[in-house]
Amino acid sequence: MGGRIDLGDVPVVDNHCHPVEARQSTDPVTWREYFTESPDFRMRTEDAAHTTFYRRLIRALATFHGVEATEEAVLRARGRLHEDQCVDALFADAGIAGIVVDTGYPPPETALPESAFRTTGGVLQIRLLRLELFFQRLVAEHSRYDDLVAAASAGLADVRESGHGGLKSIAAYRTGLAIERWPEEDARTAFAEARSEVGRRGAVRLGHKPLLDTLLHLAFTAAAAQQLPVQFHVGYGDPDADLRTANPLQLRALLEEQAYRAMPIVLLHGCWPYVREGAYLASVYGNVHLDLSYAIPFLSTAELRAMTRAALGVAPTTKLLYSSDGARVPELHWLGAHTARNVLGAVLAELVADGDLGAEDARLAGERVLRDNAWHLYGFPAPVSHSPGSPRVGHSAGGVLGSE
Ligand SMILES: [Zn+2]
Repeated sequence: MGGRIDLGDVPVVDNHCHPVEARQSTDPVTWREYFTESPDFRMRTEDAAHTTFYRRLIRALATFHGVEATEEAVLRARGRLHEDQCVDALFADAGIAGIVVDTGYPPPETALPESAFRTTGGVLQIRLLRLELFFQRLVAEHSRYDDLVAAASAGLADVRESGHGGLKSIAAYRTGLAIERWPEEDARTAFAEARSEVGRRGAVRLGHKPLLDTLLHLAFTAAAAQQLPVQFHVGYGDPDADLRTANPLQLRALLEEQAYRAMPIVLLHGCWPYVREGAYLASVYGNVHLDLSYAIPFLSTAELRAMTRAALGVAPTTKLLYSSDGARVPELHWLGAHTARNVLGAVLAELVADGDLGAEDARLAGERVLRDNAWHLYGFPAPVSHSPGSPRVGHSAGGVLGSE
């Protein structure tokens, strides 16, 4: 081992991330909470500082800020920067050319405005529509089931026109990935229950399976007609996601529906720990893509290497997409980009050493995963600048986006 395909000059397209918060704490106890999915108080305030991920983050940030590799020194340096400056500095250093943003989390009222990501040398942005939040709003607004269905259909009639380049579902956090077809009567009963929740507390958390599944099918029909990518949360998350029903194999019924074959599906977070299952699905279903997420889940470098090996071990390199899943603080978007280049470069070098790939192949595979596949899939508006020897990317005409 030891060698690495150098991908340091490849700008990334982060195909799944979130906004950052307008006010980011640099108090150690609060700051640590950014780096765990645990709701447990002690985990959030103490144990989160002792994962291999967190130790790596602190060491990397110490180098970035030019300070001693301690949490205290890093947070002191960090505290001197305004949130905007921090985004600018970290995004520029990370070489991020484009991002696909899920604005459903953190709550928009606590987040920096969308323009925050745009200030750094033209980072192009595509916004996703988070389906469950969209449906929840409609359920709260409509007292009749037929009106709800009509409003959902109208809202999804032209998703790109409405300003979104894709859909995102967190069904794994609500009722699981085994999304079924229900008799209309069951959906109507579930709607009545959801409405009584609206009556009680003015809003609804859509965990009513027959209703959510029915609305999701409506969205998938729209996505297939518009060839619009749909991201699914899969695997790793806070314990609100039942990992038993968040396995990508639960999507079987959906994947088998011929009518949805025109709907590109992106399985998020490497499906970790179900990465082999996700990679397998990306290797057999033409419309399934596997997102390899390098900041969240919070994993060691070795575990990220294992995830990357498993993905490249079976899936075509045209079906794998880079992301950070960064949220709340820009350090995650930043670390994800650097880590992905390193880990992917190392795994590609192994494949070269094994005789699986030639050096030229390996470099092209790295460019695809980090940038080109997402650029194509989400239809970014202009060709990204490309390094010598890489294929031309982007279908649309227009100026070349400056990057790195
Ligand atoms: Zn996410």
